[in-house]
Amino acid sequence: MRFILIAALICFSAYVKAQTQPFRISTKHLTNNVYVHISYGLPDGKSPFPANGLYIVTKAGIILIDTPWDEDQTQQLMDTLQKRYHQKIVLCIATHFHSDRTAGLDMLKKNGVKTYASKLTNTLAKKGGNKQAEFTFNRDTVFNVGGVSIQTYYPGEGHTKDNIVVWLPQTRVLFGGCLIKSLETNSKGFTDDGNIAEWPNSVERVGKRFKNIKYVIPGHQGWQGDTMQLRHTINIAKSK
Ligand SMILES: [Zn+2]
Repeated sequence: MRFILIAALICFSAYVKAQTQPFRISTKHLTNNVYVHISYGLPDGKSPFPANGLYIVTKAGIILIDTPWDEDQTQQLMDTLQKRYHQKIVLCIATHFHSDRTAGLDMLKKNGVKTYASKLTNTLAKKGGNKQAEFTFNRDTVFNVGGVSIQTYYPGEGHTKDNIVVWLPQTRVLFGGCLIKSLETNSKGFTDDGNIAEWPNSVERVGKRFKNIKYVIPGHQGWQGDTMQLRHTINIAKSK
């Protein structure tokens, strides 16, 4: 009896360990040369919560949209991509100043990656004690890497005051980041740094700006429903 109990305890602790730190990143193919990277954090201090970023494979190296949620997982992603493609990450764009977007910036910098964020994002990151990008842009910017176009767009305040989205015109992928909520949640999430009143207007601007959106990736959880997530986010932001 005691033996069974001990065996059960060992199994249980192994299970718990698999669910907590150190976290393991994963990746999912989205379309063409575009993939989602998924890392984990502990926003409530106990339950692991997933965060989405993108990586895009080009003939001139790999582009990252947002870093994994900590440095260990950033190292895992660098190792995975090196092994899988024999290519380096050459560029990373962070879509707002929170650590689920920026935690790996220093580590990427150290590894020769050109890291970018908006001027506002870097200012807020500095204030909040978060990692900052090496380079900044002041207005919406188009990056061209290895034949792939990456467009940044600042639609206004929402989840945070600095949240931007990233549009990939060739594959019609909209990376919404934390401005956009997954259909899996009805919660506004962490809004202390945001502007809930402006949030719906900012999402409306995104919907007007980009036509024929095929994929929408939110900052957290699943991305089923694609453009339905825009309306869903507006409903959440307007809810009591
Ligand atoms: Zn977030």
